[in-house]
Amino acid sequence: MSEVYLNGAFLRPEEAKVSVMDRGFLFGDGVYEVIPSYGGYFLRLEQHLNRFDASLAAIRLDNPLSREEWRTLLRRLIGTPPAADQAVYLQVTRGAPGSRDHLCPAGTQPTVFASASPIKPRRPEIAQDGVACITRPDIRWQRCEIKSISLVAAVMMRREAEEEGALETIMHRAGLVTEGAVSNVFVVKNEALMTPPNSHLLLPGITRGLALLLAEEHGIRYLEEPILLETLRGADEIWLSSSTREVLPVTRLDGRPVGDGRPGQLWQRMDRLYQAHKEQVRNGHV
Ligand code: PLP
Repeated sequence: MSEVYLNGAFLRPEEAKVSVMDRGFLFGDGVYEVIPSYGGYFLRLEQHLNRFDASLAAIRLDNPLSREEWRTLLRRLIGTPPAADQAVYLQVTRGAPGSRDHLCPAGTQPTVFASASPIKPRRPEIAQDGVACITRPDIRWQRCEIKSISLVAAVMMRREAEEEGALETIMHRAGLVTEGAVSNVFVVKNEALMTPPNSHLLLPGITRGLALLLAEEHGIRYLEEPILLETLRGADEIWLSSSTREVLPVTRLDGRPVGDGRPGQLWQRMDRLYQAHKEQVRNGHV
């Protein structure tokens, strides 16, 4: 990481310092985004920035920068010429007032931070063998559509997955699948592709949206509808989607094989469409 952005300045990471009074640090009072870039072009930049605006509006924080200011600073972070494929991270907190109080004094300047880091290429075993997941009750709050920096539940869920030798935890609430700790979930059953509908119970994933768009463009029918936990357990295929991990095939769930235990046919098709889309982004065609 050569430089990061903090409150108007581009600095070396070790020079960038935030106050201990920052409400991000004390309350988790802030929101964030992660945006992938390929060959110097962002994938679905406007959709990410729209979701960022929605998260800020939901916690009643004005966006401190204009759309054009964000675009300019994000482009600078990935460098010219860009250093490999990178994901930019952006975060805004309610700032660092003089004292710790749940109510924040009017006029407090938000803290604005952004950085870029390389996207690790997918390991070939993942496309060949898929990944393992576990299931757990969704212990999070009920405003999961906000991309909040308060991520302790997600941290706990990822750790439990790792302890079980799995990549991700798929969560459920009242018998229905919500999403992964850091991803959205798709299920294929009898050739039907399904994903839970957007609501306050899950993040409206940008990769989820792109996968649905690609499905629509290529005549793959899908349903956005509630998915029972037992449907997940009996699925022919399960996929995860996220900006840095793309669309991944899940081949083990709670220690048992999903379908025939191999990445499914529909996933292979979606992955080809996704990779082709990424190449178009990389060549500046999208
Ligand atoms: N759901 C949660 C809880 C996430 O944290 C993420 C990404 O971090 C996603 C879904 C996937 O969202 P996106 O595709 O926009 O990266």
